[in-house]
Amino acid sequence: MAKKHSRVVIIGGGIIGCLTAWRLAQHGAEPIIIERGRIGHESSWAGAGILCPIQPWLYPDAFTRLIEASLALYPDLQKELQSHTGISPQWLKSGLIMPFFPDDAVNHRQAAIDWSNRFGWQIEQLDTRQAKEAEPALADDVQGALLWPDVGQVRNPRLLKALRTLLQSEGVEIRGQTEVEGLIEKAGRVCGVCLTDDSTLEADAVLLAAGSWSGVLGKQFGISLPIKPVKGQIVLLKSQPGRLTHIVKHDRVYFVPRRDGRILVGASMESVDFKRGNTVVEMHGLLDGLLRLTPQLAHEQIEHQWMGFRPGTPDGLPFLGPIHEKPGLWVASGHYRNGVALAPITAKIMSGWILGEQPDMDMACFSPNRSVQPSSVLGFPDSVECP
Ligand SMILES: Cc1cc2nc3c(=O)[nH]c(=O)nc-3n(C[C@H](O)[C@H](O)[C@H](O)COP(=O)(O)OP(=O)(O)OC[C@H]3O[C@@H](n4cnc5c(N)ncnc54)[C@H](O)[C@@H]3O)c2cc1C
Repeated sequence: MAKKHSRVVIIGGGIIGCLTAWRLAQHGAEPIIIERGRIGHESSWAGAGILCPIQPWLYPDAFTRLIEASLALYPDLQKELQSHTGISPQWLKSGLIMPFFPDDAVNHRQAAIDWSNRFGWQIEQLDTRQAKEAEPALADDVQGALLWPDVGQVRNPRLLKALRTLLQSEGVEIRGQTEVEGLIEKAGRVCGVCLTDDSTLEADAVLLAAGSWSGVLGKQFGISLPIKPVKGQIVLLKSQPGRLTHIVKHDRVYFVPRRDGRILVGASMESVDFKRGNTVVEMHGLLDGLLRLTPQLAHEQIEHQWMGFRPGTPDGLPFLGPIHEKPGLWVASGHYRNGVALAPITAKIMSGWILGEQPDMDMACFSPNRSVQPSSVLGFPDSVECP
């Protein structure tokens, strides 16, 4: 187990690696982030920033408890980032609305209500008139909706910029454009990493936080971590503040209204390995969803589109904890669709755990050594071989 003042090498400078580095530094440790490209420019930049799982009722209860613990940390985190850096991550409780339509393939109404009541999440059942009042842009054939008024969002690029600025100003070492390719092991313990430029870096502990690439790297390290990329494409509309006020979620699409009026339309779910770029068919699917649900937005201007790779796992749950067969190696990866929502609790738990403090939550469900049960609803969009 590493101790205070320990040197911890973190592989990957996404939201998980960066926030864990910050918490480690606050505990008196010496984190070093090794990032192959630019800090926070992969999944953590690309995501929609919705602070709630898309269909939380599908997950095991342990996951809901982890999410709740994480979301409870967001108000202080965003204040901390803003006061240290002057950059606002635009944390906003915009609420999330889930409308219903006559041609819905699946109706999650009852499952959503039951789950919300069980966990004490505030929920409002809106009839058709109330749904249209809450979100006038919804199509006229909407048949009521569910509204979670407390669901929030952040703007990922701003959050990552604030985090990077904070780390730099506090003197945390960040090595960009630097790639890890192997581990240094001595006397049965992991004690550093090998870089692709043939140099090495010694450490008391190594944290694998390489997002979608953690599965590939795990294989290089001789461990099995079934993490693979699930590509998500997004379209950004330039609109006016107030055209949409809540996050709208329906079936395969969601719309996220930003404070400045921009509306993010997301997101595809694709198993295409690491193939980058936006495609006609997925852009069409997203815009088709927009036209069906909110035809009033048909003439908004398309400003931008992008994609990212979610670090997917077969059961939809992250891998958090020590790798038993490689003492000194830890993993915090596979956050799939919920890495932004789960980042604060991941960083809190992992920083303490690496420095010798046992988590105060039951982490068995997220153990990298668990026997993973693939889930057809939470796992990969289709079955592609894992590393
Ligand atoms: C379209 C889309 C929508 C999403 N929407 C949401 C949402 O609304 N809410 C939510 O909570 N989550 C959402 N997510 C998921 C969330 O963005 C991810 O779970 C989260 O960003 C994962 O963070 P990470 O730090 O693990 O990975 P990343 O941000 O991908 O960071 C991993 C880093 O590791 C680096 N790396 C890889 N290999 C190496 C190596 N060998 N050496 C050094 N560095 C390496 C990479 O370059 C990368 O920067 C979404 C994701 C996408 C793509």
